[in-house]
Amino acid sequence: MPVNPSALSLGDLVAELGTRGDCRHDPDLHMGPDAFEDEPLAERLARQDVAREVCEGCPVWALCLDYALRIRPTFGVWAGYLPRELAALRREARALSAPEVEEAA
Ligand code: SF4
Repeated sequence: MPVNPSALSLGDLVAELGTRGDCRHDPDLHMGPDAFEDEPLAERLARQDVAREVCEGCPVWALCLDYALRIRPTFGVWAGYLPRELAALRREARALSAPEVEEAA
């Protein structure tokens, strides 16, 4: 039976990602080094590409996307998206769901 991701609490989503997410064995791949460690641009881009590939086959991808859209992360790769890409998705979703305003004649 399909699961409606939005029906899950943040706690339930965290539990699902933590136990079934493909990134759980190597979180550094998706999160990168800590804030005190330099990561050259070329290495960061390559790491993010690999992380995106992992996300493509992840069994909890939809749950992860729902979680990321809700928590608004500031770093890392979530469901294959960077934080700025997630922000763009949120803006697009808002624009699509906004009621149309009729122009006054
Ligand atoms: S979609 Fe990517 S970031 Fe999300 S749980 Fe799966 S592997 Fe991790």
